[in-house]
Amino acid sequence: MAMDEGATWLASKDNAEAFLRELGETEASFKKRSYNVVAYYVPLTLDPGSEKDRREIEESNNILEGGLTKMRWIKPPARRRTDQRFAHVIATFSDADAANRAIVNGLTICNKRVSVAKSKKEPVRCLKCQGWDHITSECTITNKEVNVCGTCGGRDHWTSKCPQPGATFCSSCRTGDHTSWDRGCPTFLRKIEDLNARDPANDLPFFPAKESWTWSPSYPTQGRRVPPAEVQVNPAQPGSQKNRYRQTQINFEYAAPGGRPYTKESRSSQISDSPSCVEQWFNAPR
Ligand SMILES: [Zn+2]
Ligand SMILES: [Zn+2]
Ligand SMILES: [Zn+2]
Repeated sequence: MAMDEGATWLASKDNAEAFLRELGETEASFKKRSYNVVAYYVPLTLDPGSEKDRREIEESNNILEGGLTKMRWIKPPARRRTDQRFAHVIATFSDADAANRAIVNGLTICNKRVSVAKSKKEPVRCLKCQGWDHITSECTITNKEVNVCGTCGGRDHWTSKCPQPGATFCSSCRTGDHTSWDRGCPTFLRKIEDLNARDPANDLPFFPAKESWTWSPSYPTQGRRVPPAEVQVNPAQPGSQKNRYRQTQINFEYAAPGGRPYTKESRSSQISDSPSCVEQWFNAPR
């Protein structure tokens, strides 16, 4: 839908059904858009597959019931360090406003305040051949013996089985400067530029919605996107990250759409039965 009005009109179920009847479509249905964000350093007590945990997050963040449709850990749990307590999560919202509010305000998950950023679309790289725009199951190299390593460029092993993990070779750039999975790889960066040129909204820090600030190409609160644990703080230097961070916190409150999402009432009200991730957090030895 090119026009906001059209999209708003279609968002109503009755209108959408009338529209489909006009088209003579009885089997068709509208696929609801989804809005993905990354939540950083989420306590591992969260069960991303649990509907109960999702309802609890909705409640403690004033998100309408059903607004948070899916959550998943970014990295497979099997690849965690043994002492790890936090991990990043992809959270899927059913509406842009709720996703944008989470990006501005962060989320409270398992009683911890976490930073949130938009999850932008990125070019797909094949883990078998290191080529672009297809996934491993669609790779044209069907030979089981050929697996191009993303680290050293060898053609006879998977990246995860690399016998020389210190080596670097990029199969896209044909250089030993960096690995194929390096997020600074010039080919990767160029492909991101191409993708954003085709879909300019992808590069925006928010999901474009009704309010004009959601279309802004600059994030109103620079610094907030950086997960807290990664912020380099040097209080001795004026104008350091810490100062900027504080400054942006003020803008942040100002820019927050829809007021404060977190109230005392929602914090205390819990959906009970089995222990939720919040209860587990309280009971965990520290
Ligand atoms: Zn491939
Ligand atoms: Zn290798
Ligand atoms: Zn490269």
